[in-house]
Amino acid sequence: MDRLISMCKQRGFIYQSSEIYGGLNSCWDYGPLGAELKRNIKDAWWYANVHLRDDVVGADTSILMHPDVWRASGHLANFTDPLVDCKQCKRRYRADHLSTEVCPECGGELTEPRQFNLMFKTFLGPVEEDAAVVYLRPETAQGIFVDFKLTQAASRLRIPFGIAQIGKSFRNEVSPGNFIFRSREFEQMELEFFVSERDADEWFERWVEARWNWYLSLGLNPNKLRKRAHGPDELAHYAKACFDLEYEFPFGWQEIEGIAHRGNFDLSQHIKHSGKDLSYFDDRTNERYVPIVVEASAGVDRALLTFLVDAFVEEPERVVLKLHPKLAPYKAAIFPLQKKPELQAMVEKIKEDLKYDFPVITDDTGSIGKRYRRQDEIGTPYCITVDFESLEDGQVTVRDRDTMAQVRISTEGLKAYLHDKLQWRPVVK
Ligand code: ATP
Repeated sequence: MDRLISMCKQRGFIYQSSEIYGGLNSCWDYGPLGAELKRNIKDAWWYANVHLRDDVVGADTSILMHPDVWRASGHLANFTDPLVDCKQCKRRYRADHLSTEVCPECGGELTEPRQFNLMFKTFLGPVEEDAAVVYLRPETAQGIFVDFKLTQAASRLRIPFGIAQIGKSFRNEVSPGNFIFRSREFEQMELEFFVSERDADEWFERWVEARWNWYLSLGLNPNKLRKRAHGPDELAHYAKACFDLEYEFPFGWQEIEGIAHRGNFDLSQHIKHSGKDLSYFDDRTNERYVPIVVEASAGVDRALLTFLVDAFVEEPERVVLKLHPKLAPYKAAIFPLQKKPELQAMVEKIKEDLKYDFPVITDDTGSIGKRYRRQDEIGTPYCITVDFESLEDGQVTVRDRDTMAQVRISTEGLKAYLHDKLQWRPVVK
């Protein structure tokens, strides 16, 4: 982890937020490469879950919502973690994360657990009075639920259908940490799929499979991914079943996504608190009912950390980030063998030809070997080198990041060659 974190900082993937002021605990900034990687993850999720399906539409709802939303959803009363303090060293922990009854750092005695609400409060309008208290959303899902009826009517959707959203969420976590794994500001990719009671179990299983397949389609090592069913003590009182997808990080097996069969709790609560009818009428069966929700909730930052950890390989001669080409920040790097104007002109020409199709970068500093290493470390799948022979025969050397094998390709066929190699087709059922 330490070497990965230092690579992330050095190469411009991720830095501590506000670093020049000493940093802000548990908040992170994505640099040029991190921003690209993050966009690619979100695009891959949106593509597989919205664009390739005809039963899911997207949404982008606001972070600040009416405070009654959180009363209805149960977050105001129940979105709490049990907090304990060490009486000796004053360290603070989440009681449900501790395996010992005394402080794991100093062995000191711990206080009784206190419930701590994780929602950040702020004020709407210029006067800091109670009436104007609002919360930064701790999950994106509620925006989908409260807009359920509007979205269904506007899109003329029939159950089963889903609404997908990607956006920031905020939780005042008691014990953030493990780099970007648990932070206080993060992004989520959430899918709420609305079904009838009859079909609910089947859709739940389908979504567990679909989400599992999505990670594998992006190259994640299946031996490091597992499904874990929640035990009865972990399940929310309204939920029927929940599976966590877990990844084996250097700090242990940890949840990267939760897929839950939530019953009709969410919509029922909003019906109760808003007084609005959010039921659904099925004109095929002549039934009116409150839909059941199957939810797939993933963290963008956590997925990003997962893909980074999984791709980070330290070989004797080099460090290589074996990211799936779909996720790689740059798809190809183009080098002139030497800093000669005629070679550089050809590099520019190739760049102009490729850059409308995918992001590419050029580099003419240092030896070719050094340039390869630099690209390996940031996960660029292909390096293209223009040499003196290229000027004669119109062919360039294309080197594969993972195998380091090199082939000569004519510049005319280069784009098609790369498109073929970079292709990605997730399984959609
Ligand atoms: P935990 O019990 O570990 O605090 P949770 O089970 O409450 O987490 P969910 O509410 O199910 O988490 O959140 C769904 C997903 O959102 C998680 O699987 C994770 O990927 C992401 N996520 C949740 N909290 C954080 C956080 N503090 N930092 C980064 N990602 C998070």
